[in-house]
Amino acid sequence: MEQKKEITDNFKNMVKNINAALAPGKTIGDLAEAIVQGVYDNINCQHVFLSRYDSASSMFKAIAWRSPVNPSDVALEQKFMGSSYSSNQPVVVNDLSLYNYRLRPAVARLGFMSLVGMPLMAKHGLVGVLEAFSDKVNHFSDFDVDLLALYANQAAAAIEKADLAKECSYWAAEKEFLIEAINMEQASIGTLLYKVGDTFSTLLGVDGVAVFGLDSEVEGSPLQEVMAKGFSMADVGRLKSLYNKECLTRFGQMDGGSGECILKQSLKTIGSSDTKLLYTVPVAYKQTLYGIIVFYWRQLGKETNMGSLEGFIKRIVGDISSVLGRKHLYNNIQRISFSDIVTGLANRRLFDYVLAREIKKVKRASGSLSLLMIDIDFFKNINDTYGHLVGDSVLEQIGLMMRESFRSIDLPARYGGEEFAVVLPDTDRDNAIAVADRFRDKVARHSFQVGSQIINVTISVGGTTYNKDEATAPITVNSLIRAADRALYQAKQLGRNITMFGGS
Ligand code: GH3
Ligand code: MG
Ligand code: MG
Repeated sequence: MEQKKEITDNFKNMVKNINAALAPGKTIGDLAEAIVQGVYDNINCQHVFLSRYDSASSMFKAIAWRSPVNPSDVALEQKFMGSSYSSNQPVVVNDLSLYNYRLRPAVARLGFMSLVGMPLMAKHGLVGVLEAFSDKVNHFSDFDVDLLALYANQAAAAIEKADLAKECSYWAAEKEFLIEAINMEQASIGTLLYKVGDTFSTLLGVDGVAVFGLDSEVEGSPLQEVMAKGFSMADVGRLKSLYNKECLTRFGQMDGGSGECILKQSLKTIGSSDTKLLYTVPVAYKQTLYGIIVFYWRQLGKETNMGSLEGFIKRIVGDISSVLGRKHLYNNIQRISFSDIVTGLANRRLFDYVLAREIKKVKRASGSLSLLMIDIDFFKNINDTYGHLVGDSVLEQIGLMMRESFRSIDLPARYGGEEFAVVLPDTDRDNAIAVADRFRDKVARHSFQVGSQIINVTISVGGTTYNKDEATAPITVNSLIRAADRALYQAKQLGRNITMFGGS
């Protein structure tokens, strides 16, 4: 009876201590300390160990203890009674000498004679073990065992709660990262990879991270350094050669849709005994490798749940991979499309195609084909004065004016930058000059409104006409463009806001 009351008191005390250890701002390490202290004070024994079990690496790591012995990390298969713990069985050994063959000699030498061990079980499995050892055989009473079980339940619940909180923080961080990454979809692949490297160093607290992008155009070493922190120049060079072609091919094939693999390997620092355990994650999507991320921790917090951390890393890399995959797809769509996004006009691809077709036509039949090249005057000043976005808006408005100003058989196109071109089939020189002048005049008289700004813009036009009957030389796409370009250059030379026509 007396003993029971004492146990109830002990337990109340323990709950109080544990609650204090769980207060905001306290870590799982504080809690482990409180539990181990509780066991040490209330169960009369010489050694108490609380270890976390990390299912990703199958390792037990002691996170708090009361013992003259400093415990080291143990793998599951080497752990004494490990299989009992992993199948959620409490362990009571009254005479360890009978088990000495199972114990490592060093442990036997420490004189442990009896043991009570409690697995710490969370919903998703084993998260740790709480063990008490005594120097005497048959040391632990049934009450000791029950009390240790109570402590173990508390510890398991607390660890589960802490893991869950950590996991939640990972999810929140991932969501934030994903939103940022999606907003950066228009950024270059290099910028996106840089962002992942940055996230790794801030969110994961890695001591070093290096990010490489893949440039398949470069022979030999296709890896381009995007960022490196905590790696020496020499290390970065060695990393590049570490990931050779074969290795990169393998990475590309491994993805399975999203950064599903984390490779671990060690890198020795030249001229020092320092060895880093490197983690490498390929950034790949649908069999396309975009880059690789390499990182290391000098020392990972001993309470870190590697499984949950790796899950987080895989998700982050998976997110960025799919953003890159989408970006790739988008670029492909751009490549196969015929229209220019900013102006809504035909793009250069369609222009080249239509011009070649019209040249073929005019060579076969008689008649004239004219081409205009249009360049905005002093456009750089508009960007410099009002900013690039205002410049883009001017381009957009000129695009709209072009779409409204020509016949349906004409093809106005964005030739590139602030240059436009118009293919005018069945148009002789006089008519082409008239069309060009009319449009040039229309632009000069138009007030471009961007926000509250009113901007005046002029254009210069260079043109050329091909007529089979008058032609002195054969024509090609290039010769026609060159002739119009030369005329445009003259228009600029003569002061701008001018139409010039030249021979083909
Ligand atoms: P000029 O009268 O001799 O043609 O002078 P300019 O300033 O128009 O000629 P320049 O070729 O020196 O500059 C063209 C500028 O157009 C430079 C470039 O930054 C800008 N530009 C090209 N493409 C775009 C675009 O898509 N959007 C914006 N905002 N600017 C562009
Ligand atoms: Mg130009
Ligand atoms: Mg210009």
